[in-house]
Amino acid sequence: MTVSHSHKIDALNRVLLPKELLRKLGWKRGDTLSLCYDEAAGDTLSLYLLAEYTAQKCFYCERVDIEITVNRKAVCAGCLEKALERL
Ligand SMILES: [Zn+2]
Repeated sequence: MTVSHSHKIDALNRVLLPKELLRKLGWKRGDTLSLCYDEAAGDTLSLYLLAEYTAQKCFYCERVDIEITVNRKAVCAGCLEKALERL
């Protein structure tokens, strides 16, 4: 399912997340989010709830200190180069 919303970036570089989307995702005020920019995927920007993000294990070595997601796979810092080579 794809949901699309359009919001302008305000003077302080903030973007409003619609209340109905937050409710659907189970995110709430005060949650910590992680942004992931992926140039190879067409300049996409993904937003993750940090609690869920860090609970994942690295796709390659199963470490739990995840740095980033590459091609929808959680990847630790030690495996980042390997992950990028496989794109
Ligand atoms: Zn790893």
